[in-house]
Amino acid sequence: MKASKSIVRRTRWPDSAGAPLVTPLQPSVVYASSSPDALDAQYDGTAPGYTYAREGHPNADVLARKIDALEGAEAGLVTGSGMAAVTAVLYGLPGQGDHVLAGNQLYGRSMRMLREELPRMGIATDMADPTDAAAMAAALRPETRLILLEVVSNPTLRVSDIAGIAALARERGILLAVDNTFTTPRGLRPFDHDADIVIHSVTKLLAGHSDATLGYVAARDPEHRKRLYETAVTLGLTPSPFDCWLAERGLQSFELRYDRAEANARALADALADTPGVRRVLYPTRPDHPDHDRAVSLLGDRGGPMVCFEIDGGRAAANALVEAAPDIAFAPTLGDIGTTLSHPASSSHRGLAPETRAALGMTEGVFRVSLGIEDADLLISEFRAAIAAATAG
Ligand SMILES: *Cc1c(COP(=O)(O)O)cnc(C)c1O
Repeated sequence: MKASKSIVRRTRWPDSAGAPLVTPLQPSVVYASSSPDALDAQYDGTAPGYTYAREGHPNADVLARKIDALEGAEAGLVTGSGMAAVTAVLYGLPGQGDHVLAGNQLYGRSMRMLREELPRMGIATDMADPTDAAAMAAALRPETRLILLEVVSNPTLRVSDIAGIAALARERGILLAVDNTFTTPRGLRPFDHDADIVIHSVTKLLAGHSDATLGYVAARDPEHRKRLYETAVTLGLTPSPFDCWLAERGLQSFELRYDRAEANARALADALADTPGVRRVLYPTRPDHPDHDRAVSLLGDRGGPMVCFEIDGGRAAANALVEAAPDIAFAPTLGDIGTTLSHPASSSHRGLAPETRAALGMTEGVFRVSLGIEDADLLISEFRAAIAAATAG
C-alpha cells in the first residue's frame, strides 16, 4: 500500500478559537520559513519570529519579558545559567587591555572567572571591599571599564555601598554591573540605583524550585544589549526551552514565595539571637548587623530570605547540627521553595585559605540558611533542637 502522507513531515498545529491558559512549551530547535524572501526578512529584522533556538525561542522571550517587568528593564536576555549571564557581561563588554574591578565577596565562580579566566584574555582584574566606596575608588585604574558588584554578600550578608560606588562609576564613565541574584528586585532594583547592567542566576529565587538552571542579563544601553546578545549566541550561552518553561511557571509565585521566606528569615534571625549555643546572628536589618544603617537605607525593611549564624564549636559541632536537623536539606544552593542549610567552610568557601576565611569571619561554626515557605514556628523549633543537640556539652 502506498502512504498518502509521511508521518515524519512537519505537523500542522490544530486551529483553536480558544487560547491556552498555560504558556505552551516550544522545544523546536529550528523554524521553517515560507520562502527565501521570508527568511531574508527575518534575518534583516523586518519580519518577526524565530529561526534557530540558540538565537532565540519563544519560551526564553516569554520568561525574559516577565523578569524585565520585575527589574524595570527593557529587552533583557535569558541565558543558560547564572554563570552564562556573568560570562556574557565579562567576555562581552570589556576588551583586551581593559581592567575590571569587582567586590571581594562575590559568588565563588564569578571570583574564579575574574581571577583565572579574564587574565588569560588580557583583561586585568582586581577585587576590593564593596562596603567601602573609598577602597573601591583606590583600586580603580585609568583603564577600568567595568565594576561588578553583588548587593548583599554570601554568606555574611554584608551590604555594598551601591550609592557610593554608582556615583564613582558615573563620575569616571565606568560601567556598573550588579548581580542581583541574592537581593532580587523584591529587595532592590539596581536600575533604580544607576546600574548599567543587571545579572541574575534565575536558578535561585526567581525560578525557586531547584529544577531549572538559568540566568538573565539586562542592560540600559541598546548597544550593550546587542553586544550581550551577540556574545551569548556566539559563545553558546543561551537557554533550553524546557528550563525557561519551568522557570516561568516558578516565577509566577516568586513574589509570594519571597515575602513569606523573608518573614521566616526575620523570625528565625530573631529567634536564633536568643538561642543558647548561638555565637552570633547576621541579618541585614537587625540592629546588630555591621551594615544595619546602609541596609535600612537601601532595602527598607526588606532584609531578604537569608540568615547567617555561627554556633560554638568546630567541624564536629557543625556535623552534629546537620545530623540533628534531618528534615532540613543540607544543600549548597539557595532560593528553593523549601528551607536549605549550607556550610560555607566545606562548600562555597572551601577553596579559600583558612586565614582568608578567618578574616571574612567564616569559621567552621558558620551556617547560612536560605529560608523557604514552611511554617515559621516549625522552622524555629527545628533549628533550636538541632543547635541544642550540636552544642550540648
Ligand atoms: C548561583 C549564583 C550564580 C551562578 O548561577 P548558576 O545559575 O548556578 O550558574 C551567580 N551569582 C550568584 C550571586 C549566585 O548565587
